[in-house]
Amino acid sequence: MSLIKDKYERAIDYLRISIIDRCNLRCIYCMPSDGIKPIEHKNILSYEEIIRIVRIAAGLGVRKIRLTGGEPLIRKNLPYLISSINNIQGIEDVSLTTNGLLLQKYARELAAAGLRRVNVSLDSLLPERYREITRGGNINDVLNGIKEAENAGLIPVKINMVPIRGFNDDEIEEFALLTIKKQYHVRFIEFMPIGSREIWNEEKYISTQEIKERASAVAPLMPVKIRKSGPARYFRFDGAPGVIGFISPITHHFCDTCNRLRITSDGKLRPCLFSETEIDLRSAMRCGASDEEIERLFRLSIEIKPEGHSINHEKSFAHLKPMSKIGG
Ligand code: SAM
Ligand code: SF4
Repeated sequence: MSLIKDKYERAIDYLRISIIDRCNLRCIYCMPSDGIKPIEHKNILSYEEIIRIVRIAAGLGVRKIRLTGGEPLIRKNLPYLISSINNIQGIEDVSLTTNGLLLQKYARELAAAGLRRVNVSLDSLLPERYREITRGGNINDVLNGIKEAENAGLIPVKINMVPIRGFNDDEIEEFALLTIKKQYHVRFIEFMPIGSREIWNEEKYISTQEIKERASAVAPLMPVKIRKSGPARYFRFDGAPGVIGFISPITHHFCDTCNRLRITSDGKLRPCLFSETEIDLRSAMRCGASDEEIERLFRLSIEIKPEGHSINHEKSFAHLKPMSKIGG
């Protein structure tokens, strides 16, 4: 089946689905300390609704699914959702973004259900600081979770780190060094002015260029080509088993190669992370829309997918929903 392209010739084959807006952490840059008002349970997409959406999307050429949240591992019976999605004709890759706290418990079950890989968010390697950034998380749970993910064959494990000046930027080199010891893909993501406003300010933002210079202090970084690397640009230290990726939503917009759509946990189809334009699939489905009608809504979202976004580190994006609601 041929892939569906938008009007800027981008083939849309990737759907990122937030399956829950709730989380078992309250990372300082993502959520306010008292959390965010959760979406009512009845307004969260059911697994059957998600499976139906994926089936229709697969018919249009979507091949890759990433489940995210909030924290996807706190939603019950996740292996059922994963195996159901994995069995849909056309779906080639199902992955998960998680804070890793519950990975030790679930990694094997998830792998057995057909999960291919995990991205684990980890913003500090220091136990006390990790606790502070996440407002209460225990780093040992994450480290054990990463080990279990490797044992379960969910490799390469990708570790996502958001460097924030004055919080954790002194650990950039330490994170880079992980790739010398392990086969990890360590990915540095630019801090975005989205989500919790409690700590954002321009001075805390660090550009990819600066992060890369600081990682290069360890040893020279050589570019590597990784197939289907998405928005990340990858590098490697000579002889290292792992790689280092840089994701630069602020300084290097990757809009020209953006192949994705998103579904929020309450069932809104969102053509761009940084635009509040959404199409309400949940209401359509609950009002009895046929598969053909849902397919038309998908086509519409592809048609209106913007060419690019104008986010930068000086602009306030206070109007945007937090990442936990959209699905980071
Ligand atoms: N709870 C899961 C986790 O933490 O991996 C999945 C959801 S979380 C919203 C997804 C990703 O969004 C995380 O890697 C997190 O670091 C990132 N994120 C949240 N707010 C961000 C911000 N303001 N700037 C950059 N990344 C952000
Ligand atoms: Fe939860 Fe992930 Fe947001 Fe942290 S980044 S509060 S783990 S959703």
